[in-house]
Amino acid sequence: MRPEGIGEADWNDAGWQMRHRIRDAEGLRAFIHPTDDEIRAVAALADRFRFVITPYYASLMDPDDPECPIRRQVVPRMAELDDPAGLADPLDEVAHSPVKNVVRVYRDRIAFCVNNECALYCRYCLRKRMVGEPSWAMKKRELGLALDWIRATPEIRDVLLTGGDPLVFSDERLDWLLGELRGIPHVEIIRLGTRLPVTLPARITPELCRVLEAHHPVWLNTHFNHPRELTPEAAAACDRLTRAGVPVGNQSVLLRGINDDAETMKALCEGLVRLRVRPYYCYQAQLLEGTAHFRVPVERGLEIFRALRGRTSGYAIPLYVLDTPYGKVPLTHAYLRGREGDDIVVESYDGRLWREPNPLDDPEAPADPEASGDPAAPADPEAPDET
Ligand SMILES: *Cc1c(COP(=O)(O)O)cnc(C)c1O
Ligand code: SF4
Repeated sequence: MRPEGIGEADWNDAGWQMRHRIRDAEGLRAFIHPTDDEIRAVAALADRFRFVITPYYASLMDPDDPECPIRRQVVPRMAELDDPAGLADPLDEVAHSPVKNVVRVYRDRIAFCVNNECALYCRYCLRKRMVGEPSWAMKKRELGLALDWIRATPEIRDVLLTGGDPLVFSDERLDWLLGELRGIPHVEIIRLGTRLPVTLPARITPELCRVLEAHHPVWLNTHFNHPRELTPEAAAACDRLTRAGVPVGNQSVLLRGINDDAETMKALCEGLVRLRVRPYYCYQAQLLEGTAHFRVPVERGLEIFRALRGRTSGYAIPLYVLDTPYGKVPLTHAYLRGREGDDIVVESYDGRLWREPNPLDDPEAPADPEASGDPAAPADPEAPDET
């Protein structure tokens, strides 16, 4: 619910939204009736992980329901203090950093944490250890050092700008950064990871879209977790991006009590596809400090995505993954049941078995050099030697 007395122009202005963010229990009271637990948690966690919410996102919270899936993502709870297994850096990102702000797990692509600020802070944020921390504020000089590293590392063909949120940058700064990356010949694609279409859709202005468009190919992944986030404002923001030629994907996190049932996940993913946003990944929640109350057993995740297969468009089914220090690992129901002689046996979405003839290559058979493409074998036995 939007509080009274705020003009339309202010409400739809990203700068106004950023300046009027909720930072304490008092601010929260303008939007919801906070519980004792929430009020205590705001104070108890103040120096652990920043509490900030945009008025826009706060207006989506149910004022009376503490279990509201929007509210639970951003309002702290005392349960955050109760997580003995949680780690600060479960992906060991610090160890995978060749230069400050760059995380390299794969040979050809990196996550480049260009900013430590977000419009709001999600209570289950993987980068809790660095977002919202003033000590992490990134200076242009540091960005420059990371750019130098990318320039000097020709294997890097895909740069994912993340953070924090790279769209918290001004248009000018983003234009500069994208231009620097575009000037590196081996950087083929630039990707943005941003939650602003969800948390501050007013930031996706026509001017911003023009900046992105000027540096194509630019891809963007955003982060919707619940169908209630699919508001007309968010839809318009995604529409502006796709019209600017930016393919928009979504990465959600599987969160207990928020989206961990097939019905909610299906509504979310079908809603995204209606906005031309492709569900890309759904992450298993990490073993991250203060988030035990959000985690679900992997078996539940498998059941949810199994329930979607065959019952909605393939476009509406993201890949369920566990991120690890060794890269992302798909968590999938095993549709391939195994081999029986010359057949493979697969299971359909509704549990029926299908047997597909698929003999193994016979290792004894004489190799067809053309088909195998073996560079050591001459393609034409009559052809003269090259020497
Ligand atoms: C997720 C991630 C990427 C991108 O992975 P894709 O599977 O290509 O989307 C790149 N680097 C790091 C460190 C990542 O965590
Ligand atoms: S928007 Fe992303 S980086 Fe920022 S707090 Fe939320 S999950 Fe973390």
